[in-house]
Parts: sequence; C-alpha cells; structure tokens
Amino acid sequence: MPKSGTPGVRESSLGGPMLWPSDEPWPFCGQPGHWAPPDGRNPAGTVPMVPVVQLFARDVPELTFPEGMDVLQLVWCPLIHPEDQACAALPRLYWRSEADVLGAGVLRTVPAPQEGEFEEEFMPSPCTVSPISVVEYPNWDLPQDLRQTLQPRIDELEERFGTDYALLACALQNKIGGYPAWNQKPDWPDCARGHRMEHLLSITAEDDLDMVMGDLGGIYVFLCRQCPELPYAHRYDC
Ligand SMILES: [Zn+2]
Ligand SMILES: [Zn+2]
Repeated sequence: MPKSGTPGVRESSLGGPMLWPSDEPWPFCGQPGHWAPPDGRNPAGTVPMVPVVQLFARDVPELTFPEGMDVLQLVWCPLIHPEDQACAALPRLYWRSEADVLGAGVLRTVPAPQEGEFEEEFMPSPCTVSPISVVEYPNWDLPQDLRQTLQPRIDELEERFGTDYALLACALQNKIGGYPAWNQKPDWPDCARGHRMEHLLSITAEDDLDMVMGDLGGIYVFLCRQCPELPYAHRYDC
C-alpha cells in the first residue's frame, strides 16, 4: 500500500528518489511531438524522465530478480505521446545491484522536468510502499472451458459481493506479479523472439498518488525472462 512520505534512495518507493549510479546518465525522452496539457505546448526537445517505481528485493520476496540484481527501477516520460499505443509514459526498466551502485557512487543531482514539461497525471508523488501479498485469479484471461466449469461458483461470488467476477478476480492496483486487471480485451505482448511475456507490474490510477491516467486505467509492464536481455513491453488499459 503506498503511503505519502519522503522515501530515501535506499528504500522501495513509488515516485521516490532512485539509487542511480553516478557514472550513468539520467534518462531523457526526446520523442518528437510529445506534449503537456493544458495548452498543448510542445516542450523543447528532450525532458528528463521521472522516477515511478523502485523496489528492493528484500521488500518483495515473491519477485524473482535476475541473478546478481536486487533493485528494480521504472522511470517514464511525464508527457503525452500521441504516437504511442499507450499515449503516455514510455516506461523504461532497469535491474541493478545495490552494492554495485553504492560502490560506483550514487547520482546526487537528478534532473527534473520544469513547468510545462510534464502532464500532472504522470507525475507520481513520493510514497513509501509496504507490499502485501494477495492471491489473484485471471479475469478475462480465464480459459473459456474453465470459466464454464466455474460458472456456478462465479455466479455465487457475484451474488454475494454484488459485483462482477472480473473486478473480484484481480486488483486494479499498483502491484507486482499477479494478473493484469484488464478493463479491455487482454493484449499480452510477445517479445521479438515470439515468447509470450509475463506480467511484471502494474501502475494504476490511485487517488493517493495524484495520478488519474485516463479513466480508471493502468499501465502494465511485461517482461520476457526467456531472453537473456530481459526485454520488456507495456500496455495501457483504460
Ligand atoms: Zn516523452
Ligand atoms: Zn523472449
């Protein structure tokens, strides 16, 4: 559960400062045509990306990290990208070793977008996180025959909770693993070698994050662990 706060670089956070090696330049986005509301001003060229998620292995024991890595970081561009399927964000994913970064030195001066260089909805405010484990079930990904078998139990559940199975099965929340809480038709990405990717994490609209992200949607990040370079992709769902 995210909680407003002032996380440090060595803490798991949403929108908090990152443990970034001083010898690696902070990422910028220079996609032509990206822009910020309300006036549709096209900001000058490149803008710094912003921290979205940082997770330390010690805080998410269920998440398998690549060998030797114990930090997961996600940044994205806080502007609107008309060309992108997701329209926004263009997340970039990094796996790191905490010890290596501490050894190399931590980047102290992280550039931040200036007024007019970001869309409010894509600027997560700093939160500490204390992950809890939940069991999830596929909603739209549930195979048709299994769904038929389970239908009496699904009906019973829907009656008892007064809501759709799709909403009960998995959480439309910031989360690691589980199933994407698709609002629209499932749209699982494949990597370039044709492997079906796995759902790595979801970043979703939450009031306490001051992010709206369209209508009740989320950005889902997927990962292929079968390819050594760990390719990833994202989907925007609303
Ligand atoms: Zn951009
Ligand atoms: Zn692959």
